[in-house]
Amino acid sequence: MRPTREKKLLNSLRCPVCNGYKEPGFTTFTADLGENLVVIRNVPATICNQCGEEWVDNKIAQQVETVVEEARAKKHQIEVLSF
Ligand SMILES: [Zn+2]
Repeated sequence: MRPTREKKLLNSLRCPVCNGYKEPGFTTFTADLGENLVVIRNVPATICNQCGEEWVDNKIAQQVETVVEEARAKKHQIEVLSF
């Protein structure tokens, strides 16, 4: 599962959606795995200050995937983690 793949673009300071400015910040990542829901807070991201579109670095996305896989293995219905 690679839900953040389309959010990997970090090559511009301007938002391609609304032309606003991208700013560093944090986002909350949610993965609905069917049997369980994994929520990861404080994921570093670049966020548009105008429309709120988010981009996550590839390296961060890979770490998020690892955390999601570990949470999935625990089989809790809801897992809320801090990145
Ligand atoms: Zn925008």
